[in-house]
Amino acid sequence: MKNIDDRLTQVKQQISELEQKYHRQAGSVSLLAVSKRKPADMIETAITAGQLDFGENYLQEALEKISAINHANVHWHFIGPIQSNKTREIAEHFHWAHTIDRLKIAKRLSEQRPQELPPLNVCIQLNISEEESKSGIMTSELPHLAAEIDALPRLKLRGLMALPKPSEALDEQREQFRAVRHCFEDLRQRGMSLDTLSLGTSGDMEAAIAEGSTIVRIGTALFGARD
Ligand SMILES: *Cc1c(COP(=O)(O)O)cnc(C)c1O
Repeated sequence: MKNIDDRLTQVKQQISELEQKYHRQAGSVSLLAVSKRKPADMIETAITAGQLDFGENYLQEALEKISAINHANVHWHFIGPIQSNKTREIAEHFHWAHTIDRLKIAKRLSEQRPQELPPLNVCIQLNISEEESKSGIMTSELPHLAAEIDALPRLKLRGLMALPKPSEALDEQREQFRAVRHCFEDLRQRGMSLDTLSLGTSGDMEAAIAEGSTIVRIGTALFGARD
């Protein structure tokens, strides 16, 4: 197994090659290192190698690592499902939340965001494959929810996130990400200043970058398989 430094270099290299291949501006895709179920020392190794954005899914686990690492320049992104009883700690300890799909959760995050911190960056999660069981809102509900969230004082709506159903084929993956991009463009045409498409994981990074992703959320390719 390669070490984290090498994997980080390799993933960054892949991102920059894909930016070129799909005529994206150099540096327009940023890397979110998904460190769920990985120990704090692995995160510290990645920080030493220059990685400063980390994604976590499980609140208690994340809070332990945030306090152990206690690094002022690191940005923590919450990327797991958000229940009402978790909003306060997310509002207090994270810089981003990618998985907003209900106004109630957004309102609580806005109310609970500490005054001394800048607004919490948020993305709305879309359920693009329209699977009943999945988190995320249906595209038909998006314009209304986006307008309401955009009006909340302590949140900054940055864009959209999706985690499409797994598929091996590049064109199928692209089709799902393209649908997210179309929703994003539609909101921008309505006058919202959004700049973020949080799309792509280790298995579908190429399709995501081809379709306009600005943040790829990479776990396995950096830290290895999770148990
Ligand atoms: C776990 C997770 C990832 C990372 O997936 P990998 O396949 O390990 O790269 C990305 N996004 C979300 C929402 C996740 O839960």
